[in-house]
Amino acid sequence: MPGWRTPLARGAAPDPLRPAAPRRRHPARHGTAPAASQISTIMNNTAALEDFIRRAPRLFVLTGAGCSTPSGIPDYRDADGQWKRAQPVTLQSFLGSEATRRRYWARSLVGWRFIRATQPNRTHAALARLEAAGRSELLLTQNVDRLHQKAGSRRVIDLHGRLDVVRCLGCGAEMPREAMQAELTRRNPGWSTLDAGSAPDGDADLDGLDFAGFAVPDCRHCGGLLKPDVVFFGENVPRERVAESFAALDRADAVLVVGSSLMVYSGFRFVQAAAKAGKPVAAVNIGRTRADDLLTLKVEQPCEDALGFLLADTAG
Ligand SMILES: [Zn+2]
Repeated sequence: MPGWRTPLARGAAPDPLRPAAPRRRHPARHGTAPAASQISTIMNNTAALEDFIRRAPRLFVLTGAGCSTPSGIPDYRDADGQWKRAQPVTLQSFLGSEATRRRYWARSLVGWRFIRATQPNRTHAALARLEAAGRSELLLTQNVDRLHQKAGSRRVIDLHGRLDVVRCLGCGAEMPREAMQAELTRRNPGWSTLDAGSAPDGDADLDGLDFAGFAVPDCRHCGGLLKPDVVFFGENVPRERVAESFAALDRADAVLVVGSSLMVYSGFRFVQAAAKAGKPVAAVNIGRTRADDLLTLKVEQPCEDALGFLLADTAG
């Protein structure tokens, strides 16, 4: 885990969690995105981020993989938003191929050991603190690791589902991922002790093995296919989840993106809608985001550093 840098000296600065009196005008209130030159001048400016958060009584927070990388969960993309590893399994492949399902669950059997042990970091803690102060209308996360909830956030929607639940595609029955782990281990003795590098979304780099002998359990109620309760690539986010998220965006004053390149449309569309509605959008992300030209403020720092001020008076 990267070292924690001392929060900026704040002197007599106002409490970042106490909203400021509304200003007459915010740079993006009227839907005009600042010019690229304006963005570059406020890059890496934590004070500007504090100010942004202080001015927005109700924030819509959208988080991505960058929140969880310091907890040891790898990311799919590099700083340019490009794939840095093989693309994840698609829904079509998972449904259509038994070999894909064997490979998926074999890798997941190994990968889950890492995921279940991960702990939230200071970014998760900072965002939980924001909610506790009544400032978070919703935390919409693209992560499936449940680390925001582990850190104490409650107003959370898991946009892409959750890895700790398995669902039957036949009858809809749910089971905890831990129960699936026990069943996978029982049927595949030897596989669970394999060592492999941890990969995104509870996956593990386990290749060059023959997966043909790997046994995948079906639903014990109906014999249907079991799938982790996450939205796979090629799969739509459930409609009601999207509607609930947009309703929260309507109630919010501003959007704070944390650790996401917004390359996936299911998350990007919320920033697009916010910009269209004239709500200011700030992003904390190292590297390019798909929404760079829609941002009011961009802070290119590790999330833990940029949001550290939210924890400043509880540090130590
Ligand atoms: Zn079933």
